Amino acid sequence: MSCFYCKGALEKSTTEYVEKQGSVIVIIENVPCEKCTQCGEAYFSTEVARKLNEILDSVKSISTRLTVAVVDYAEKAA
Ligand SMILES: [Zn+2]
Repeated sequence: MSCFYCKGALEKSTTEYVEKQGSVIVIIENVPCEKCTQCGEAYFSTEVARKLNEILDSVKSISTRLTVAVVDYAEKAA
C-alpha cells in the first residue's frame, strides 16, 4: 500500500485525530495509523476508524458548550 496523494511509502505510526463535533473540538491522541513517510498523510484501518467514531459519539454527549476534549486513544480502546 502506498500514499494516495504522493505514492510515498507508509509506515506504522501514531497520530493525533482532531474533529469538531457540534460545539466540541475533540482531540484524540495516540491513534494508531499508517503514515506516509513523504507527506505525513495518516491512514486509519477500518477497525481504528470504527473506534474513532465510537469515541467521538461518547465525547459528543458529555458537553453542549464550546469546549475542547482531549482523549487518549489507547485508554478508550482498551
Ligand atoms: Zn504521501
